Amino acid sequence: MKRYASVNPNQCVACGECAYVCPRKAVSIQKGCYAKVDDTLCVGCGLCERCCPAGCITLIDRDGCSTKGGQDTGRGHSSELCQKGIG
Ligand code: SF4
Ligand code: SF4
Repeated sequence: MKRYASVNPNQCVACGECAYVCPRKAVSIQKGCYAKVDDTLCVGCGLCERCCPAGCITLIDRDGCSTKGGQDTGRGHSSELCQKGIG
């Protein structure tokens, strides 16, 4: 299933953790305010979603359906990569 990550800019705290963990360098922090995903680079691996402390990243099927429950599941910082991350 092809997916890409989408950020809710209203919830993003611009910590940069998603950009740090992204293996595709698909995330940039816009004006230091919020993260933005380049969906042409994103491969939908979900690392950023799992690391986001604000729970504001959603994986979306390329046919338009969200695959996330919609709230912070407490899974943040569950991966080894995340534990080395920012903040
Ligand atoms: S889903 Fe993976 S490839 Fe896409 S932005 Fe997140 S970390 Fe990067
Ligand atoms: S990890 Fe979440 S809160 Fe931090 S910059 Fe990325 S989207 Fe924003």
